[in-house]
This record gives sequence, C-alpha cells and structure tokens, in this order.
Amino acid sequence: MTQLSAEQLKSIAHQFGTPVYVYHAEKIQEQYKKLTNAFEASDVQFFYASKALTNINVLKEILAMGANVDCSSINEAKLAMLAGFTPSKILYTSNGINFEEIEEAAALGIHINIDSLSNLEKFGKKFGHSYPVGLRLRPNIMAGGNLKISTGHSNSKFGIPVNQVNEIKELVKKYNIFIQGLHIHTGSEIKDVDVFVKGIEVLFDIIPHFDELKFIDLGGGFKVPYQPGDSETDINLLAQKVKQAFSNHPYKNPLQIWFEPGKYLVSEAGYFITTVNVLKETNTATFAAVNSSFNHLIRPMFYDAWHTIINISNPEGKEKKYAVVGNICETDTFAWDRTINEIREGDLLVFLNAGAYGFEMSSNFNSRLKPAEVLVKNNAPVLIRQRDTFEDLLRNQMI
Ligand SMILES: *Cc1c(COP(=O)(O)O)cnc(C)c1O
Repeated sequence: MTQLSAEQLKSIAHQFGTPVYVYHAEKIQEQYKKLTNAFEASDVQFFYASKALTNINVLKEILAMGANVDCSSINEAKLAMLAGFTPSKILYTSNGINFEEIEEAAALGIHINIDSLSNLEKFGKKFGHSYPVGLRLRPNIMAGGNLKISTGHSNSKFGIPVNQVNEIKELVKKYNIFIQGLHIHTGSEIKDVDVFVKGIEVLFDIIPHFDELKFIDLGGGFKVPYQPGDSETDINLLAQKVKQAFSNHPYKNPLQIWFEPGKYLVSEAGYFITTVNVLKETNTATFAAVNSSFNHLIRPMFYDAWHTIINISNPEGKEKKYAVVGNICETDTFAWDRTINEIREGDLLVFLNAGAYGFEMSSNFNSRLKPAEVLVKNNAPVLIRQRDTFEDLLRNQMI
C-alpha cells in the first residue's frame, strides 16, 4: 500500500509546524488507477467530487491523472477552471440552488445536473433545446454509512423524486429541453455494490422516457476503510455488476456511465498531524488534548466517524487507553477509550483518512486559525496552503 512513513510525517511536522494536513499525490493516483483498471471494459468517466478536498494543487493532480471534476457550488466550478479543467470536464451537480447560479454555470459552458422541477422549468424557459442538461433524480433508495450521509431515500431533499417522472416529461415536452443524462447519488460510504445495481434498475424504468440521453451518472459514495478490519467497496465486483446490468439496457443508443467519487480518491491520501498540548489523568479517562479540534477535523463529532490515531513520536511506547480531545471550549472528543502507544506531552498524533472532508469542513470557531496544507509528491513535501494568520480573522470585519 502506498503510504507516507512516520519519519516523513515527523519531518513535515518539524518543517511546517502543526496542526497540518498532508496529502500524498501517489496515493490519489493509486486510487484512480484502481477505478480505471476495474472499469477498463466499460465506457466510463470519473468526475472527482471536489467538495471532499478542493485545494487547487490537488485539483491539478486530479486533472493530470486524466479525471474530470464534479462540483457542488459555482465556486468549486471556478476553482476547477483555475486549476485548468476545460468546461467539458466539469460537472455541476446542483442542489437547492438559486437559478442565477445555474445561469452562471451555463455561461461557463459546464455540464449541469438539475435537481428540482422549479429550476428545470426556469432552465427550459431560458435555454429550450440549446443547452443539454442532466437530471438529478431521487431514486427512493436508502443507502450510505449513516442517515446524515444518505441522500437518495424517500425523505431526502436531494433530486427530483422518480415518481414525478410525468411532471418532468411535461416540462421537457413543453420547453423542448435537451435531457442528456440521468443522475443519482444515494449516499456516502456505500459498501454494498448491489445498491448501485438497484439504482440502475430504478433508472432503467426512467430511461425509455427520454430520447437524447448520452450518460447515466451513478454518483459517488464508494467506501474506504477507516477502522482496522474495515473493508472498502469492491470496485472490481462493482464494475462487473454494472457492466452486466448495462449489457441489456433498454435504450437505443450506447450510454456512457459516469461516477463521482470523492472520498475514494482522497481519503486515505490524507494525514492530519497534531501535537499533544496537555495530558490529564481523571478517574474515568486519561485525556490527551491536542492542538486542534472540530474546527479542523469535524468528522468524529459530526458523523461519529472513526479516525485511526497514531502516536508517531513514540511508536514503541506501551499501549494505553486514551480519550483524545481538542483545545476548544466545547466537547470535542476525537476518540474515547482508544488504544494508542503511550502519549507524552509534545508528542505528534496523526489522524489517518484525513484527505476527504477534513480541511474542507474546517472553520475558525473559537477564533482559532485554520491549519496549513502540504502536498507530498515524489517524496518532496510542498506547502500548498499557508496556515491562517491573525489577519485572516479580521478580514472582512469592519473596524
Ligand atoms: C458528495 C457527493 C459525491 C461524493 O461522495 P463521496 O462519498 O465522497 O464519494 C458525489 N456526488 C455528489 C452529487 C455529491 O454530493
């Protein structure tokens, strides 16, 4: 497995300080290769869901690998353009957005997936048949690691419910809208590949209603291992099942298959290095408080997510149980009752799987500064975002 060594991470911590996010370019490439190899025999395009990690230097790596990019805001699309993606390699899968943002996306000439009847009607009125567009559908399937990251179920706000296909057809007919693709994204951390097959089956009922389809977009949500013993989505099995399902699809023209992996590409490529500020013995736990909190890495608190934590300063130390917490005025437990090599104040603790939804979900809560980001390629660490400074807290405040 491609990974950075404790020595490399220690040296990065010394060079750039902590807390710091570190991303490993070769690991991102390895994940992308796994996808393209598995789907070699199918006509598939991958759109990296950039909301997982949008640093422009990472986007450039993604572009260099040959992937496309999926955006969840107009600003992400603009970042992708800055990174060098051409409009045809950018997809904007919108949700709940103002029509003006869709107009902005159309002005950039990028692919757009529309997720409401209301915006579809506005789109039809303005563009008629002149701008091919995709439909984000809600397949009414429950899937994903937990409810917060489940997006395709029958109470979800995402997508146009498939049971409203007649309303869609009326609008398409009325305005002669060019529907070029159908999209579903059922959630994140989907291990069971049959969820995708179920999604395809739902789409197969919808496909015959549209004449000009070019692609079916099955979204992202491939699972990666977080805990020891965890497994990831079996991409080869997925490729096989998708190919099989599409081999008898009910459509006159060949359909390209699109995917939007976010986490799968960048999660394991990321490391978050912190320093232990304080050790505190109590009757219920030994607290190790690091120089960070959910203002930098919120997944453990927000999703109850597990991140493996390694003490790279004392790898041979006796294993003990710790509560790893942060330094802000709020309960911020990263891990409870976690076995870690003996921790001393000043030790470096590394959080694994920090590439996806790590820095990206960070904030300045408690008026603390956002961490730096470093990209390692060919074993050379390069600073790709400097740590916030005090001035960043004052930026935009009227003094
Ligand atoms: C977030 C998102 C993804 C990526 O999900 P991952 O779990 O990171 O793979 C893909 N498509 C859409 C529309 C999304 O919102």
